[in-house]
Amino acid sequence: MEKRFVYADNAATTAPLPEAIAEMMPYLTEKWGNPSSIHGKGEEAKAALVAYREKIAGLLGCEAGELLFTSCGTEADNHAIRGAAYANARNGKHIITTKVEHPAVLNTCRALEKEGFRVTYLEVDEEGRVSPEKVDAAICEDTVLVSVMYANNEIGTVMPIREIADVCRKRGVLCMTDAVQAVGSVPISLHELGVDLLTASGHKIGAPKGIGLLYIKKGTRIKNLIEGGGQERGRRGGTENLPYIAAFAKALEIAYERLDDNGRIAKMRDRLIDELTKIPRSRLNGSRTERLPGNVNISFECIEGESILLLMDMAGICCSTGSACSSNSLDPSHVLLAIGLPHEVAHGSVRLTLSHGNTEEDVDYIIEKLTGIVARLRAMSPLWNE
Ligand SMILES: *Cc1c(COP(=O)(O)O)cnc(C)c1O
Repeated sequence: MEKRFVYADNAATTAPLPEAIAEMMPYLTEKWGNPSSIHGKGEEAKAALVAYREKIAGLLGCEAGELLFTSCGTEADNHAIRGAAYANARNGKHIITTKVEHPAVLNTCRALEKEGFRVTYLEVDEEGRVSPEKVDAAICEDTVLVSVMYANNEIGTVMPIREIADVCRKRGVLCMTDAVQAVGSVPISLHELGVDLLTASGHKIGAPKGIGLLYIKKGTRIKNLIEGGGQERGRRGGTENLPYIAAFAKALEIAYERLDDNGRIAKMRDRLIDELTKIPRSRLNGSRTERLPGNVNISFECIEGESILLLMDMAGICCSTGSACSSNSLDPSHVLLAIGLPHEVAHGSVRLTLSHGNTEEDVDYIIEKLTGIVARLRAMSPLWNE
């Protein structure tokens, strides 16, 4: 097959959508006013900010006043967890989360442990899910917050968030979900979902890097993370990043329009899974059914993820691995270990994440190249014998 360029790392970041870039340009070139200014230039920017916030609220099914813009998904996660923990500390200092969260959540929880909070990191099942019953059983007298991700960024497992939110509501505990991977991939309607806090990030859905979103359900007690000049109704200081907010709103609109296309993406995903798991001593990580439409994560025994990545890159394919070197540590992915993979198997895993830009030809190409690369590396591996 002729060499091509295939971007299959959409869980890491997505190519900015031309429509999103076009949407933001006027706020860089012409309408560059400060939304807080009282003059015409400021009012022009303020009106746009209000309109974009309303548009996003309409798409997500919440009120504009419940949305806070942040500098990224990581900041939104930090703000949600720290803010809720501090504001509710007099009711208790226990937080429940899972072992498979993104570092933005895990490391915030670890930092709070050093400040006297107690954190329970729930185990997940072999597909990476945590059940509502398990959450229920972990809630104590002093629990104030439950934080469970909507969909996992490594293995694509979608969690039963609505049911978990139900449990939290019944037990009088705040429910937060990191929905950075879920927004745009699964239809989300916030008021139906029932969570108190939710986070999203622009660059995972076709907006530029550097814009995030925090949903705070009306009435939720939460402390500020960044103090400043009273922006965002006094909840987050810092002049609003109007160009990126414009791009985020456009990207979200397109993501919702394209939800129908997720069936096509899921078909490509399933073909990749079917073909790649035909390779001997390979296994699919995550769930076959409760899975993000674009996520494929497969382990190949006896070879290293980094070596696979390198050869894939040479073949023009961008993907990622749950192996060590990608994360600057010697341990393989905490997610793969949490679902019970032995270290040596976790080291040989590859994540391919598809999006709207991918085609069936990309899938053919990935299958051909990856099959060949695995065979080549195994032929050189002292661990491999058939
Ligand atoms: C990418 C990601 C984040 C962080 O978002 P940034 O905007 O890159 O800071 C948080 N959680 C999950 C699940 C992610 O995939």
